[in-house]
Amino acid sequence: MLQGRSAGHQAVVGLSDARSRTVNLENIRIVLVNTSHPGNIGGVARAMKNMGLSRLVLVQPRAFPHEQAEWRAASALDVLERAVVTETLEEAIGDCQFVVGTSARERRIPWPLLDPRHCARRIAEVSPREQVAVLFGREDRGLTNDELQVCNLHLHIPTSADYSSLNLAMAVQIICYELRMLLAEGNVPDREDDHWDTPFTTRDNMERFYVHLEQTLTDIEFLDPAAPRQLMARLRRLYSRVRLDEMELNILRGILTETQKWVEKARNR
Ligand code: SAH
Repeated sequence: MLQGRSAGHQAVVGLSDARSRTVNLENIRIVLVNTSHPGNIGGVARAMKNMGLSRLVLVQPRAFPHEQAEWRAASALDVLERAVVTETLEEAIGDCQFVVGTSARERRIPWPLLDPRHCARRIAEVSPREQVAVLFGREDRGLTNDELQVCNLHLHIPTSADYSSLNLAMAVQIICYELRMLLAEGNVPDREDDHWDTPFTTRDNMERFYVHLEQTLTDIEFLDPAAPRQLMARLRRLYSRVRLDEMELNILRGILTETQKWVEKARNR
């Protein structure tokens, strides 16, 4: 028995050895939500280019394009030119399998939380084969709770207790720097799921699942829409911790569909 297991382990290590395991900066996008000051967008572009990142997504920026953005970007105009502007956060991250939300302060429901160094390592590990987004919030009030609840992981930059809120571009700089350091380090460690047979599912599919789940829980009267408490937030946290693959998601969707059929039958009895 023991012998068999160790032989299996060998095979797995052999498989992952064949893959390139360096951080893939091309699979990592920086997403700025509702940025007020165009100068900050330029500062972010520069911070990214200095560290070798190039994919910038702007969700409803207040003013873009703008000369202040160009001025602060200095020699990173190409990052601004390639920037994708979207109307919604869903459009910005729909195809991502891993999403990190940054926050300057504690929120109501605790979420898995890491500092930039450890978080960069997690991002680097999934970056060879998954699309990753790192979300940054508004200058005056950060990301909303709903926006933070689409994330797999939260990132907080440790600061002095007196003043925890960094300038937006400086916060981006710190995270891009940590990713850069991992690029310099070479190979990132193997993940326990590197050998998975089915891809991890995307944000878009997860959002469709949550709509289905919420409707079914309402149908079976487990969720009272008049007093939902934090039920959906807690379920979101559960599933984003596990990370479902596409097959697992289809199984859960199938269970929900069958449950709804039984509810319908019971209603018509
Ligand atoms: N006043 C806001 C902070 C906004 S700072 C608040 O209380 O939430 C603008 C953005 O910069 C934040 O949304 C976050 O994306 C990033 N940021 C600033 N300071 C940070 C910190 N200490 N840790 C992580 N992200 C930070």
